[in-house]
Amino acid sequence: MKNQNELVKKYPEFFEYLKDHKGPIIPIQFGFECGDGWYWLISNLMESIHSHCKNNDKPIPEILQIKEKYGGLRFYTGGTSEYIYGMISFAEDLSYTICESCGTIENVTTSQLPNWMITLCDTCRKNREKSRNLSYLKWRIKNIDLLLTLLSKKLKSIIKKWLVFWRKNSQE
Ligand SMILES: [Zn+2]
Repeated sequence: MKNQNELVKKYPEFFEYLKDHKGPIIPIQFGFECGDGWYWLISNLMESIHSHCKNNDKPIPEILQIKEKYGGLRFYTGGTSEYIYGMISFAEDLSYTICESCGTIENVTTSQLPNWMITLCDTCRKNREKSRNLSYLKWRIKNIDLLLTLLSKKLKSIIKKWLVFWRKNSQE
């Protein structure tokens, strides 16, 4: 996610545990693995958890991983209260109604693209399909190019053989 660092800076307590982290790579080190459209949802969730903990004198949970899976938000934390787990699962449910790409809540569906489920609005879905088709077209054009190159090589070698044959015959 593009603006993830803004949230890390705004709510550093969630990531305090990373300061002295020297062990193997952990998931959150890959960043927030979802589209920019969910920025406002994640930002609201972090703000709600943060203020709930501050107001009730509770420890702020560690955020271990934020990602998209099967078209929905997954927000993994270290152990925390039932109340906060409730907030998280509410936000995860809401993610199915928010376009992961642009953040709108209009005409949003979670559907099965050939290889993966994704929650998008109609416009973003069309754009994504267009760019998928375009990259397929490019792939085909590249392969036709390759085919033509191979064919022309083959043709050249046939023509060469013919020329050799023809010269030989014409000299005799
Ligand atoms: Zn969209």
